[in-house]
Amino acid sequence: MTLSIAIVGAGPAGYYTAEAAQKQWGDAVRIDIIDRLPTPYGLIRAGVAPDHQSIKAVTKRYEATNLAPGTRLVGNVMLGRDVSVEELLGLYDAVVLSVGAPLDKPIGIPGDDLPGVVGSAAFVGWYNGHPDHAGLNVDLSHHGAAIIGNGNVAIDCARVLAKTVDELSQTDIADHALKTLAESSVRDVHIIGRRGPHQASFTTKEAGELGHLVRAHPVVRPGDFPPEAEDAALDPGQRKMVTHLRGFAGLPRGDKPVTINFEFFRRPVAVEGHGKAERLIVETTRLENGPNGLGAVGTGELHAIPCGLVIACIGYRTAEIPGVNWSDKLGRFPTDDAGRIAPALYASGWARRGPSGTIGTNRPDGFSVVAAMVEDGIAASGKAGPAGLDALLATRGVKATDFAGWQRIEAAEVAGARAGAPREKIVDVARMLALA
Ligand code: NAP
Repeated sequence: MTLSIAIVGAGPAGYYTAEAAQKQWGDAVRIDIIDRLPTPYGLIRAGVAPDHQSIKAVTKRYEATNLAPGTRLVGNVMLGRDVSVEELLGLYDAVVLSVGAPLDKPIGIPGDDLPGVVGSAAFVGWYNGHPDHAGLNVDLSHHGAAIIGNGNVAIDCARVLAKTVDELSQTDIADHALKTLAESSVRDVHIIGRRGPHQASFTTKEAGELGHLVRAHPVVRPGDFPPEAEDAALDPGQRKMVTHLRGFAGLPRGDKPVTINFEFFRRPVAVEGHGKAERLIVETTRLENGPNGLGAVGTGELHAIPCGLVIACIGYRTAEIPGVNWSDKLGRFPTDDAGRIAPALYASGWARRGPSGTIGTNRPDGFSVVAAMVEDGIAASGKAGPAGLDALLATRGVKATDFAGWQRIEAAEVAGARAGAPREKIVDVARMLALA
């Protein structure tokens, strides 16, 4: 008998969980990494910004995990559509949901349904060529763009809007996005934070990068910063990040045509416009201690930020899966600290802890889930495993793809790349399937 594990989601969390299971059980385990797309790597492919290629090098590690004996990629198979959780639990000794958090958290303000208002999952998916979002209608004909949120995703979106086509063309940004950005009229990008610079969740490198863009100039209001002496209370990373932001105040603009404006202490209250977004209404805030620490409280003072595009970079939610306990409040599956959902059913990555941390944060997650499996006595019990899944999919006419199929897609993407770019992403699933 051989132990069999199904990991649903071929992103970082899924691969680190597979790596941990390989380390734990070696040749004695069969692992199927199941993904709804024929392409692996999740947010490394569709989330990490295209101009951060060095971060994407981690896929070499995931490739090695996938090529280890006993581990398969089962692409083009969607949990809840092609196979259910109950069926996977019947086929495998353990099932891990590493499905991430692909849905945008709603902003929930009047006008957020106007054309021109998008969530970051959609906008990032658009420029990264995710098949779900490649067709997004992004209108960059207005001078202003407002980005809500003070996290790294907000910075990624600002950078992509602010960079020149030359800066972006040697990345793997999707061709449709590059063409739209080449025609962009956006000149004023606003990054809206409901709290202050000390509370921003940008990391140092990402904040600092905005000071070195070819055609864009970062703007801060010195009055938004607390006295410099108060930076001493911040942890070293946060202090460096705030030092970068403070430094923007002294940067000469030169002849840079684009501004990236940090609008701290501004809470979005409405999007207005005739049939499409034309302005974001924000309310000035001040900090007040509340049950969850320092919160933003509105002062009643309103401002309008002219913009034709509003991108909400305010966090994500996991998609519900039939048959799996889900918490609307958490926006994900309730688990214990080690990722247990139910007997033999676990979660890792954003599906376990919510959309936080870096790619590397998913590694300990994967290892803790496998430690929990060991503690729970997960062992080979004679279940059908991968052969059982193949048989089930065959009865349903579902054509799964494998890692070799992904390698064929990848070869076609590399062959089709613009000069100097690593690849041109294929955004059409039917084309991916034909290649795979
Ligand atoms: P994040 O860091 O959690 O930031 C979310 C931001 O949205 C916060 O500033 C939050 O403000 C704000 N927000 C939430 N709800 C809001 C609302 N209703 N109105 C206004 N503002 C609201 O999340 P993220 O930027 O989506 O990033 C997700 C994770 O991926 C993070 O761990 C991030 O570091 C990581 N990431 C890393 C990189 C990188 O390393 N290069 C790149 C992209 C993403 P409050 O703080 O006031 O709640």
